[in-house]
Amino acid sequence: LPKAEDGHALDYVNNAADSEHEKYQSGQKCESCAFWAGEEADGWGKCRHPQFSDVLVNAEGWCNTYAPKG
Ligand code: SF4
Repeated sequence: LPKAEDGHALDYVNNAADSEHEKYQSGQKCESCAFWAGEEADGWGKCRHPQFSDVLVNAEGWCNTYAPKG
């Protein structure tokens, strides 16, 4: 799968700290999100959210659907 680019969907950014979204809170990132499906290689992995089914997301990324792991 190709790597996601900033803006892929849902205000996604590859570096969470770059987000200026009102919902973003420091420390949130893909690897601690309930949708994160695990790293594939080099810090990139799959996201279970349907809007990211065609890309890899970065462990350090973030989007506005972030939900903490239960
Ligand atoms: Fe990252 Fe968003 Fe997927 Fe969560 S839902 S893993 S924050 S892209």
